[in-house]
Amino acid sequence: MSSDTMPAAAPRRFKPVVFGAITAIHLAAFLAFVPAYFSWPGLILCLVLIWATASLGASLCYHRLLSHKAWVAHPALRFFLLYCAALALQSGPITWSVTHRLHHRESDHEDDPHSPLKNFLWSHILWNFWTNPKLKDPAFIRRLAPDLVDDKVLQFFNRYFFWIWMSSGILTFAIGYFAGGMGSAGLQLGMSLVVWGFFVRTVVVWHNTWFVNSVTHVWGYRNYNTEDDSRNLWWVSVLTFGEGWHNNHHAIAGSARFGQKWWEFDPTWWALCVFRAMGLVKKVTLAPPLSDSIESRRWMGKSPARSPRLLRVTERRAIAWAELYRDAPAQLASFLRNPRRNLRECAALALANLGEGAKDAIEPLVQALGDECDRVREAAVQALVRIGDAAVPALQQVAQDAEAAMARMAGQRALSMIGNNN
Ligand SMILES: [Zn+2]
Ligand SMILES: [Zn+2]
Repeated sequence: MSSDTMPAAAPRRFKPVVFGAITAIHLAAFLAFVPAYFSWPGLILCLVLIWATASLGASLCYHRLLSHKAWVAHPALRFFLLYCAALALQSGPITWSVTHRLHHRESDHEDDPHSPLKNFLWSHILWNFWTNPKLKDPAFIRRLAPDLVDDKVLQFFNRYFFWIWMSSGILTFAIGYFAGGMGSAGLQLGMSLVVWGFFVRTVVVWHNTWFVNSVTHVWGYRNYNTEDDSRNLWWVSVLTFGEGWHNNHHAIAGSARFGQKWWEFDPTWWALCVFRAMGLVKKVTLAPPLSDSIESRRWMGKSPARSPRLLRVTERRAIAWAELYRDAPAQLASFLRNPRRNLRECAALALANLGEGAKDAIEPLVQALGDECDRVREAAVQALVRIGDAAVPALQQVAQDAEAAMARMAGQRALSMIGNNN
């Protein structure tokens, strides 16, 4: 990432208010173990609001509508969905979308706001408790979400989401109190609605949503060879109404439907279909069928990954693949020009391991020295060093003539490693 698009790193600061609020709401949810606070209306409210806030709010509104613009909503529907999302208490729509767009842009890289590569607990919950300096910079927020920051309705929800959650809870208690005939019976019904419909429900939906950040970047299968470690996992999809098909989503983030195979159920997509039938949906973007992607067919199941541990697996697989095909060096050389960083990296690593056999691929390897991805550059240097003397003339040219200083330095380094000091 170049410095002109990413603000300089500042230290993260602990957020005591967020930590306190999340902890307090977790503790309040434990009131569910008090039998007096249970009621059937409370449980029903809990289940209905789990669906409304997780599926309609977080998934359909914050994620598919705002973050990815995968569909366009009637203003009245949009307002209703924003209200549902505010009740999920997962920050405001602009903050949520900007954080999420940064997650897509930097998935499982250093600037990913919640990658499990840092550690699992970080990606699940801890990231909420610290400021992200990059997401504090108004100019950077505007660059990530120029379509959202000036929207007055979104600004309102972004500012008042907590008070909307809070006042809705108080209103719910009041409804229960009066419906229960006031007195101690009213108090009991009001408390059961708030404990189950607000505290328990909020905590459940929090963790379900956080599973998408943590679990589906670690476990599950992959339909697509994306640059990140995203996975598809059925039980996260059960809990999040279709958000668990996270590898599909990372591959084609602009699609309003996350399921790709017929059995990859997506209840949030079904809700969108109902709204469409009601005439409240203007435009829907859909992913092409899975089988259309030649690249995904070729690499399906090979799972290139970002973490050092998984990268070694990737490397072995890329080498095995290279050995399977007689034209591997040429194929690998063509992958060096692929826009996906991970493919370039695999190709460079595999070429490095082919050594002598990769002699003919020397030209794209030299070009790879100018790659903005460190690992590609490193692997290209490694490959050229292995090829040895055959690489010297091309490297000498790079070391002197390359436009990018990084490429010149990489060329010089490779030459000194080969033992030819230019
Ligand atoms: Zn992700
Ligand atoms: Zn997304």
